[in-house]
Amino acid sequence: LDREEPNYYGAGPALLPTSVLQQAAKDLINFQNIGIGAGEISHRSKAGVSIIDQTKEQLTKLLDIPETHEVFFLQGGGTTGFSSIVANLTASHIKKTGKIGTPYYIIDGTWSKKAYEEAERLGYNPKILVDTKKIDGKFGTIPSIDKWDIPSNLNEISFIYYCDNETVNGVEFRNFPFDKFPNVELVSDMSSNFLSKKVDVSKYGLIFAGAQKNVGIAGISIYIIKKSLLEQANVEELKKLNVPIVPIAFHYPTVVKNDSAYNTIPTFTVHIVNLVLKNLIEKGGLNVQEEENIIKSNMLYDILDKYPNVYKLPVSKDVRSRMNIVFTIKDGSLDNEFLSEAEKKNLSGLKGHRSVGGMRASLYNAVTIKSTKLLCEFIEEFAKTH
Ligand code: PLP
Repeated sequence: LDREEPNYYGAGPALLPTSVLQQAAKDLINFQNIGIGAGEISHRSKAGVSIIDQTKEQLTKLLDIPETHEVFFLQGGGTTGFSSIVANLTASHIKKTGKIGTPYYIIDGTWSKKAYEEAERLGYNPKILVDTKKIDGKFGTIPSIDKWDIPSNLNEISFIYYCDNETVNGVEFRNFPFDKFPNVELVSDMSSNFLSKKVDVSKYGLIFAGAQKNVGIAGISIYIIKKSLLEQANVEELKKLNVPIVPIAFHYPTVVKNDSAYNTIPTFTVHIVNLVLKNLIEKGGLNVQEEENIIKSNMLYDILDKYPNVYKLPVSKDVRSRMNIVFTIKDGSLDNEFLSEAEKKNLSGLKGHRSVGGMRASLYNAVTIKSTKLLCEFIEEFAKTH
C-alpha cells in the first residue's frame, strides 16, 4: 500500500494525503477488526452510525460550529447542493414569512452561474445581485458593493447565494460584506475551498461543499445549516402557494431527523472524510492549514508575476484564489509544450478547465509546500527557456 508522493494539481477529484488513503484502503477491507469493510457495513449499524457521528463531531470541532447550526450529509456533490437548496430554503422562507420571496444570486464564476440557472430552470424566479462578468467582461474581479443591484427591501430576499471559491475561474472571496445584509440568509458554495481556512459559521444560513476537493472522494456532499432553516412550510402550505414540494431524498429536515441516513449513505466515502478531518486536526487545525495555503499560493503567484512576458494572470490580485491558480501562457501555441514538459517532470493535472482553456494549478490542502516548490521551479525554468 505505497506510492511515490504524487505532484498532482488537478481541480477535482483531487489529491488526498497518502497516509489517509493507506488507512482508508485497510478499512475498506477490514474496518476496526470487525471482519468486513467500511463500505460493507450497514449505515444503521453501530459502526456505521459511529462513522457519521464522528465525522460530524470532528467537523464541529474544526470549524467551531455553534449550537445554532447542524451538520448533515447527502449522497452526491456540489450540484446536489445547489439544485436542492432553492426548494428547501424557499420552504423555510415561507414558514417564516408566509411569502415565497426571491432568491438572489451573486454570479462570480461558472459554478454560481450554473446555480442561478438551475434556480431559474426550477421556476423560482431568481434575481441577480451582481454578475461580475457583466462588469469586467470575464470572471476576474468582485466589484465593490456599490455596483451590486441590492433591492431596497431586504425582506423580499429568501436567501442570497454565492460561491466562495470559483474553481474554474480562480476567483475567491476575501471579505464578504456580511454587515450589508442583516437578517438575510446567506448560502455559500464552498466546494473547492472548504476547510482551507477559518470561517465564521454563525454568519451563514447554509454552507455546503462536495467532498472531492479538499476533504474526500466523490460521492458525498456536506452541509452546515442554521437549525431555524429546518423549520419549513408543510406540503399543504406549499401546494396552496403553487410551490413545488421538496423530493424526500433532498428534504433537509428529513435527512437531519434521520442523522443523514434517511436512505443509504455511502459510509466508506464518509469514513474518508472522517480520516481527512482527523489528519487536519492532528496537523494543528485550520489556522495551520490556512497559513500553509497562503504560503503555497503566494509562492506560485509570485513566480507567475515575475515573468509577465510569459504568463498572464486573468484574476485581479485582491480576489485571487488560494486553491485554484488560473493562468495562461501569453503565447498560446506553447500550451502543449508546457503541459508535456511538466508531465516529464511528473507534474500533472495542470490543464485549465475546458471552458476557459489555459492552465490551472490547484493547491488544495493535500498539496505540500515541497510539491508547490517543484511546480514553481518548473514554471520559472519554462519562463527562462521560452
Ligand atoms: N461548485 C463548485 C465550486 C465546484 O467546483 C463544482 C465542481 O467542480 C461543483 C459545484 C459541482 O460539483 P459536482 O460535480 O460534485 O456536482
